[in-house]
Amino acid sequence: MILPRASHTTWDAQDPNDTPDDINFYTWGLNGVNQWWNDEFSKGLFTTSCILVLFFFAVRISMDAMRHLRLLVLMSTDNSQRSQRYWSRPSPFSWKMKKYLWFAPIWKHRHNTEIQLSKAITIGTLPTRLHAVILGIYVISNVIYCTLLLDYSKPKRELVAEFRGRTGVLAVVNMVPLFLLAGRNNILIPLLKISFDTYNIIHRCLGRLAALQSVAHTAAWLINKVDAQGFEGVKKSLVESEFILYGMIAVAAFALIFVITPSPVRHAFYETFLVLHIGLAILILYTVWMHLKIDNLPQLPYIILAIAFWSLDRFIRLVRVFYRNISTKSMTKVKVEALDGDACRVTFELARPWTFKPGQHVYIYFPTVSYWQSHPFSLAWSSNVSKQGGVIQNKLHEEGYASGDLPIDEKNATIGPTTTQMSLLVARREGMTKTLYEKANAAPNRTITLRGFVEGPYGGMHQLESYGTTLLFAGGIGITHQLGYVRQLIEKYQAGACATRKITLIWVVKTTDQVKWIEPYMREILSMDKRREVLKVLVYITRPKADITQVSPTGSVELRPGRPNFDQIMDTEVAESIGTVAATVCGPGPFQDSVRAAVRNQLHRVEMDFYEESFTW
Ligand SMILES: Cc1cc2nc3c(=O)[nH]c(=O)nc-3n(C[C@H](O)[C@H](O)[C@H](O)COP(=O)(O)OP(=O)(O)OC[C@H]3O[C@@H](n4cnc5c(N)ncnc54)[C@H](O)[C@@H]3O)c2cc1C
Repeated sequence: MILPRASHTTWDAQDPNDTPDDINFYTWGLNGVNQWWNDEFSKGLFTTSCILVLFFFAVRISMDAMRHLRLLVLMSTDNSQRSQRYWSRPSPFSWKMKKYLWFAPIWKHRHNTEIQLSKAITIGTLPTRLHAVILGIYVISNVIYCTLLLDYSKPKRELVAEFRGRTGVLAVVNMVPLFLLAGRNNILIPLLKISFDTYNIIHRCLGRLAALQSVAHTAAWLINKVDAQGFEGVKKSLVESEFILYGMIAVAAFALIFVITPSPVRHAFYETFLVLHIGLAILILYTVWMHLKIDNLPQLPYIILAIAFWSLDRFIRLVRVFYRNISTKSMTKVKVEALDGDACRVTFELARPWTFKPGQHVYIYFPTVSYWQSHPFSLAWSSNVSKQGGVIQNKLHEEGYASGDLPIDEKNATIGPTTTQMSLLVARREGMTKTLYEKANAAPNRTITLRGFVEGPYGGMHQLESYGTTLLFAGGIGITHQLGYVRQLIEKYQAGACATRKITLIWVVKTTDQVKWIEPYMREILSMDKRREVLKVLVYITRPKADITQVSPTGSVELRPGRPNFDQIMDTEVAESIGTVAATVCGPGPFQDSVRAAVRNQLHRVEMDFYEESFTW
């Protein structure tokens, strides 16, 4: 379809004498572009996205409702093994869906295990089967819209112009979810209870798609332009037309991002990648906006929406940092202690009281160590400390309250002003974490205090109190993600406020030194009232220096040498489980994949859900 010639004059160095019979006519403006179909396909992509969002929202709501109902019923009955049994039988549809789609890796076992070309070079991870289905639907829709649904009966120059319009429009349309999903404060995270990690996978896919579409858009323009005026014409357009220049800069930035995002580059130079990526993304937003604005093209609202999503996320992050760390009375203070086993305990004394949920993470900033960088860390432990000294939780326990039961004002009334302490365990890697560790390790008492800020909280969307049995698997520093759940479930068990009857923590570390990372927290957990009734802790040390096999007198805490056999553990735990089971895992990629495989092998036996947290993206 050839649209009537528009009155635009600045799109390109067009000749006013161009006619639809002349190839020059198809090198500028909306000539040859089928805007009606472009709008329809934009709507198609929007509808596809909305259907996917609504589907996952419906699934999330129904699963939450089911868990809530289960909790209510169990709480209003005796929560006995018999009452729990009713909920523990999986329906064939439910376990097959979970095993073969919901929790399935794309092929056999591999999802979080990096694909390695050599010891030093990895090329990323594979999506899960569900991710692959979602991404497949979206990518295939784009490919069909860009290639199959063109009018191939037209002469080449018209077809190329139509392709130019289609790819350009869809590249801009895809930038809306691309920028929405890049944000830490993406509204879809709490709405669908899908982690940032998963959106990151989709973000990367959308980014590559938009980059390829923008390259195709430019290539299509070049084909007609070179056919019409040769490379001289291209050069002239770049010099004389701002519209073309901005478009070219945008596509060059897209191409550069495409080159720097693959996993080996991203992981090898993460901070450089991040700075470059953000800089190029801003450049793309600006140049695409100018490209569309100069001639007021119909896709202008899309880019404005993408800019709005990006700016809003940055604004919320800034507000969170200010709000959390600066109050009229104080600023956040940080203490860093170097620990054996190549890690630090980082304790923030926060400027304002803060109630945390298990599974949450925060971003931390240490301007004197790593300038503007922000790094994500799971919250290992938190306590409200009286300003006169002493941990309030313990006092509340003595008084018969579970921590967090009292509103902060009441706490203040009984105990005086309080401050929240939040502790992280930071394993030494090669960048900021290494500098931090070395600074603390070289200081007297291996401890330093410094200025730092915290942003958050993020994550922590899953509640486990409606499951009769909870199995928490942690590999190395992944223990930080699990400690909060252990403490919360025991507290709720004490208060009779959860269905939990069994909690098993399985922690795998390399050395005995690493066990000491959580010594103070474990001491608190093991001294909790009634914990012997519900908690079992299995610690595996894969490289022990001596025979470390130990079993506590009650048999509830065990140290074992070597690697665990996850299939065997799952088999035993499921056989001994009470009610429904939640299995959660946090650790290195191969560790997570082994636990996932063991969980999938048991899904036919018991109603079980699987939650995983990754420490990398
Ligand atoms: C949700 C979440 C929770 C985490 N919780 C913990 C925890 O409790 N304890 C712990 O020790 N580690 C945790 N991590 C990992 C931790 O964020 C990284 O180890 C840390 O950022 C590495 O910093 P570095 O400069 O020393 O990294 P480098 O040695 O320079 O890079 C190592 C790897 O760390 C990752 N990384 C580096 N910088 C960042 C960044 N700014 N943002 C995201 N990833 C980055 C990259 O994958 C990179 O390949 C968590 C990660 C995530 C995503």
